[in-house]
Amino acid sequence: MMKILQFRNGDTMPAIGLGTWKSKEGEVYKAVTEALRIGYRHIDCAAIYGNEAEIGQAFKDAMASGVVQREDLWVTSKLWNNAHRKEQVLPALQQTLRDLNLDYLDLYIIHWPVALKEGIGFPGSAEDFLSLDEVPLSETWEAMEQCAEQGLARHIGVSNFSIPKIKNLLSTARIRPEMNQVEMHPYLQQNALLNYCKQENVHITAYSPLGSSDRPVHLIQTNDPVLLEDATIAAIAEKHSCSPAQVLISWAVHRGTSVIPKSVSPVRLQQNLEAASVALDGEDMAQIAELDRGFRFINGSTWAREGAYYTTTAELWDE
Ligand code: NAP
Repeated sequence: MMKILQFRNGDTMPAIGLGTWKSKEGEVYKAVTEALRIGYRHIDCAAIYGNEAEIGQAFKDAMASGVVQREDLWVTSKLWNNAHRKEQVLPALQQTLRDLNLDYLDLYIIHWPVALKEGIGFPGSAEDFLSLDEVPLSETWEAMEQCAEQGLARHIGVSNFSIPKIKNLLSTARIRPEMNQVEMHPYLQQNALLNYCKQENVHITAYSPLGSSDRPVHLIQTNDPVLLEDATIAAIAEKHSCSPAQVLISWAVHRGTSVIPKSVSPVRLQQNLEAASVALDGEDMAQIAELDRGFRFINGSTWAREGAYYTTTAELWDE
């Protein structure tokens, strides 16, 4: 039985979903089609991934052929950093809905607590940023609330938000955020954030749960650890006759979070979904707890520089 996350209005989100960042043109249609065929019912998307139209084709075909019905599918997408002004949010969501061939999203989240000028995908210089004094997250959130009120997003939330940033948002929100999607795995366990979110009824989705080995080269440093090769994880995998990836996914589910491993391989798609049946015990969880080292594979360096709103990643993460 697939684990679920429960929302205040009774909606449920399957705990294990499919990530689609870096899933290439020509590959992502097949990956999503296969995922839906074998039983994935939660797909994680974003406008900036550049592949929503292809994913939308897969949704359309899967629904037309009766593989899945809209109401059985959970689709998340994300507002990109270049559309944070109040008048830009609804049009950005409408574009995503057109691309995905949907008339509503299950969850729409603010991708980063970072604002870029209109038309900028990734910043080339400090000039490309907007100050959050000028375009506050509370302004963006108000527009997100309107998207929810219009029924275009059943749930709204955030991504890459620290405890102080969530606190700040909660102080002005009329509709509370119901999700914070953040990097989370044994090397970045984020216990304080997890506990705070639980207390505030904000669900967590764990991204890069396998250590994002296919992340862009500019985010890779020579001495970065390789999560999938961790010796403790390997030993636990051997004990349960499963793969290291399955241990990592099962660990996230055991902590009550959603988790969105990315794959375009049919074999690994199947394996990742089947991680739901790996039953880690208290001893396994205690051993994995020891692995925490506050290590980010997605370190946020893209968003911090001299002359920009955040000059250091420590300010971005409030660390
Ligand atoms: P990830 O899921 O940790 O790792 C993906 C890599 O692992 C790919 O190279 C994939 O290769 C490989 N892989 C998948 N299953 C495997 C298995 N069973 N055994 C061995 N290798 C396996 O990395 P991610 O893509 O960074 O994170 C997952 C999703 O989270 C993203 O796709 C995206 O949807 C979301 N995300 C969100 C944010 C945000 O800012 N909100 C940031 C990062 C990620 P194959 O495809 O070849 O299988």
